[in-house]
Amino acid sequence: MRKCDICEKNDVNINLVLPDGDNKAICWECNNNLMAEELGIQLMPFDNGVYEYTGLNGQKHKFRIYKIVNPVGIGFEANEITEEDDPGYKVCILGELDCDQQDLFKQLEGKIKKTISAKYLETASLPDGQTRLLLKNDDVVGRLEYNEFDGEVPLVIIDGQVFSWEELGRMLNIYEGFQFKLSIHDIIEDAE
Ligand SMILES: [Zn+2]
Repeated sequence: MRKCDICEKNDVNINLVLPDGDNKAICWECNNNLMAEELGIQLMPFDNGVYEYTGLNGQKHKFRIYKIVNPVGIGFEANEITEEDDPGYKVCILGELDCDQQDLFKQLEGKIKKTISAKYLETASLPDGQTRLLLKNDDVVGRLEYNEFDGEVPLVIIDGQVFSWEELGRMLNIYEGFQFKLSIHDIIEDAE
């Protein structure tokens, strides 16, 4: 993987167009240092890296967490590391530029723990003896992700697992005749 043009140590996270039109491929750390200088803010130390949290039934979830500074605020992005490299849980938070960065990270950790402790799906036995994944409480919170096999229909991530749009449809099949409400929320919002 290509290394950051500035520190030549970390992997590249973003492409930055500098005021002189020059293009640099850099890591979040170097981006944050540049941004902090430009915005006149001080960065509290934070180790971008892998953090582990315990979810339901004592199950461990590893997240790669980055601090990201941009002109609208300071944020953290946590992406679950999964065995197959499939999309897993993803948790993001955004604070004001002058926020308490340590406190923001604590808020992120709270959000991660809440996210990995929620469960929207359960395996149920149907009258015909088959088992099927169904909604536990008639509602569901998930995330839409790009589907590399079909760019026209997104993948759905629920309970940190990947499902196709058709699989979600099968989970909803028992609700024939019912109404439903679908609302979309930014990744930094609380969707519940
Ligand atoms: Zn760098």
